[in-house]
Amino acid sequence: MRTDYHMHTPLCGHAVGAPRDYVLAAQKAGLVEIGFSDHNPMPTQFDEWRMAPDQLPQYVDLISEARRQFPRYPIRLGLECDFISGYEGHIRKLAESAEWDYLIGSVHYITPRWAVDSPTHLKSWLEHPLEEIWKNYFDAYARMAESCLFDFLAHPDLVKKYGQKPAGDLSRFYHDALDAVAEAGATLEVSTAGLRKDVREIYPSRDFLEAAHQRHIPIVINSDAHAPEEVAYEFNRAYDLVREVGYTEVMRFEKRKAQPVEIK
Ligand code: ZN
Ligand code: FE
Ligand code: FE
Repeated sequence: MRTDYHMHTPLCGHAVGAPRDYVLAAQKAGLVEIGFSDHNPMPTQFDEWRMAPDQLPQYVDLISEARRQFPRYPIRLGLECDFISGYEGHIRKLAESAEWDYLIGSVHYITPRWAVDSPTHLKSWLEHPLEEIWKNYFDAYARMAESCLFDFLAHPDLVKKYGQKPAGDLSRFYHDALDAVAEAGATLEVSTAGLRKDVREIYPSRDFLEAAHQRHIPIVINSDAHAPEEVAYEFNRAYDLVREVGYTEVMRFEKRKAQPVEIK
């Protein structure tokens, strides 16, 4: 009973393929249900990686059209929202503006507005101590969990994307963030997107996931597909990993309610 709730559309400017192609890929991969979650619009044109401020209706229409094309296949409507302090009100407004099945929270930006996943910003943040970047990133992740604005939280250790990691045991960076996630009752994403990046690892790392499991934090497994062929990308590896760590359930989402289902 596999699902994939993190996939993009060409509206964000860096994904390819119509929703219909993602659905066909999902059916081929044996998924029982999928959901789209493109990058949220910001109040003003904020960067080049998202739909324009007035394109939200177009996005909702795009998914409605896919639902019409595949009336018997469940297609969920989600949104991947950047958590940036000061924009919580904007997220609340977005939450009211469509019938979402789920909202994803993501930390891409850390102070002073570096995107940790952008090659163009990498150079400037690498001039700062890696310890500071990691601390900053997981502080933001904890604030995101505390905000309780989202149904699940994306790519937990995205900051490792380019393979830049501080030395030693890294749990010192994320135990507070994990406590915050547990306390908020949020779900964490296990994302195979990291396998396609320089780091060549699933987000999050095994020890991170073990620490999440100890705290009884629920999970959802996604691909973060930006192209149809990335739907369900390397899912066998992700399912093997979560089973090894001790997980027996993943979450399904509909109308902003999460429901556990057994991993099979
Ligand atoms: Zn993207
Ligand atoms: Fe993301
Ligand atoms: Fe994404």
